[in-house]
Amino acid sequence: MRLTVLGCSGSVNGPGAPCSGYLLQADGHPPVLIDCGHGVFGELQQHADPNEIAVLLSHLHADHCMDLPAMLVWRRWAPTPAAARSLLYGPEGTAVRIGAGSSEYPGEVDDITDTFDVREWAHRETVTVHGLQIEPFRVNHPPSTFGLRVTGPDGEVFAYSGDTGVCDEVVELARDADIFLCEASWTHAPGQRPEALHLSGVEAGEVALKAGARSLALTHIVPWSDADAILGEASGVYPGPLQLVHQGQIIEVRPPL
Ligand SMILES: [Zn+2]
Ligand SMILES: [Zn+2]
Repeated sequence: MRLTVLGCSGSVNGPGAPCSGYLLQADGHPPVLIDCGHGVFGELQQHADPNEIAVLLSHLHADHCMDLPAMLVWRRWAPTPAAARSLLYGPEGTAVRIGAGSSEYPGEVDDITDTFDVREWAHRETVTVHGLQIEPFRVNHPPSTFGLRVTGPDGEVFAYSGDTGVCDEVVELARDADIFLCEASWTHAPGQRPEALHLSGVEAGEVALKAGARSLALTHIVPWSDADAILGEASGVYPGPLQLVHQGQIIEVRPPL
């Protein structure tokens, strides 16, 4: 599998830095887009045909889904309507949430089912999309949020935490993953760090260590956090290969030799 980072800014976009959006592709298949936060749709156009992709949403916070109304416009109009509906997986209420974001009028909900075949995640019910086996895990974040464990055609495993606080499920979804893309929104310093919302660098390192992940890639760092400090925290806990992801980065996900 090949992972392309379209955006990775946490909670809000930064200067020239889109929010969460990751393109994942198995050879010989169209890609899937995991999350579609602010600014992601523009980046997507550099890498894939918006009419071909399937979309997987971890949750319905704006920084993970609010560029989808732009994709609706593209798929309906540019330059001709998409030939077929695309799969769109998300938590319960996805069609209404995205439809409200796409509506022209307050209080109305755009019917997006002309464009997307909308399906809802169920905890640990695996689905197959574009050659990838995707197992969703309900994690510890408001509102309803799913981390994803994706197994590729050669048995390689890509795990994505979604947004989450500490929980057993995020450890389980990352078990022995070849690449574990884990959120680390802020440092472990005392202060504004509410429970059950996000992970610090220390906590992301602890999750990866407990899970036995083969490598750790940190993401969703909010623009006002200290990225180097977060990386340092994680490296103090997790002994394996570690990196901060950046926009435009391509990561090959390979099975162990
Ligand atoms: Zn977020
Ligand atoms: Zn969130």
